[in-house]
Amino acid sequence: MTTIAFIGLGNMGIGMASNLAKAGHDIRALDISKDAIARAVEAGCIGVKDTHDAVKDADIVVTMLPAGKHVRMVYGDEGGVFDHAKKGTLFIDSSTIDVATARAVISTAEHKGFHMIDAPVSGGVGGAAAGTLTFMCGGTKDAFNTAKPYLDIMGKNVFHAGDAGNGQVAKIANNMLLGIHMIGTCEAFNLAEKLGLDAQTFYDISSTASGQNWSMTSYCPAPGPVESAPSNSDYKPGFAAAMMLKDLRLAQDAATTARAATPLGTQAEALYSLMEASGKDNLDFSGIMKLINGTI
Ligand code: NAD
Repeated sequence: MTTIAFIGLGNMGIGMASNLAKAGHDIRALDISKDAIARAVEAGCIGVKDTHDAVKDADIVVTMLPAGKHVRMVYGDEGGVFDHAKKGTLFIDSSTIDVATARAVISTAEHKGFHMIDAPVSGGVGGAAAGTLTFMCGGTKDAFNTAKPYLDIMGKNVFHAGDAGNGQVAKIANNMLLGIHMIGTCEAFNLAEKLGLDAQTFYDISSTASGQNWSMTSYCPAPGPVESAPSNSDYKPGFAAAMMLKDLRLAQDAATTARAATPLGTQAEALYSLMEASGKDNLDFSGIMKLINGTI
């Protein structure tokens, strides 16, 4: 049994922490929300009142927080994780955050004698609850190898993507591609329909032709062809458009810093911003279909 501090028990963190608890580990659960801690206690974790109580005996600290500023604060602020953890503790940050913050926090952790990886996930709330997440990790091979048995409890696919921050790079590059092919798929279905071709017939043809892609065959944004897709339940998420926009913004910020040309990523961010502006970013990200076909 390993003592693990888990900080950030929101939609994703609660499922992840409860899977670690179910595997027999001693989970110290901390969140700024008392309700979130109460849910974690129900799921078999031990609720704690502050960072000191969470991390003082922990061999591992897992964080699952909204954004880079929260990660900087939780680790680096006075009275934060760096001030209270034992030397040699392994930190796993699974939040989706900007690459620069991930690299800076890991570098500070290593200077202070800790080990740390960035380990953002894909798979959503369902994957967190089911323990089937994909982890994309950046950091030293040793830190990754120590983290892996615990990531294997929370996930199905666990990748080492290289040095610190590379997990975040994999995550934002993948999600930028996902946003782009989702929009392209919506455009194709909309064009077909406007020209008199129904969604099912277009799907049957294109899903076995060169337009085939994951947004079409696993998550079809046109209602009908893929039964489990959010398009068949009024675009209830799933993966909300707001979360997609967050990742596209991270990708654009990183692309600017790296001077990487991402013209379609820029367009994807602009289109998801319109969903936000129209107050529809609580829909699933495949709901961008409604923007494309003019039903928003
Ligand atoms: P969430 O907002 O539901 O949960 C975040 C939790 O962190 C909240 O319970 C909040 O109270 C807590 N928190 C915030 N500041 C804190 C602090 N200083 N100390 C302790 N707790 C604090 O978010 P989520 O949906 O669980 O997502 C978490 C991360 O995972 C995000 O970075 C998100 O981008 C990423 N992610 C989410 C999904 C998804 O489908 N929800 C999928 C993949 C990745």
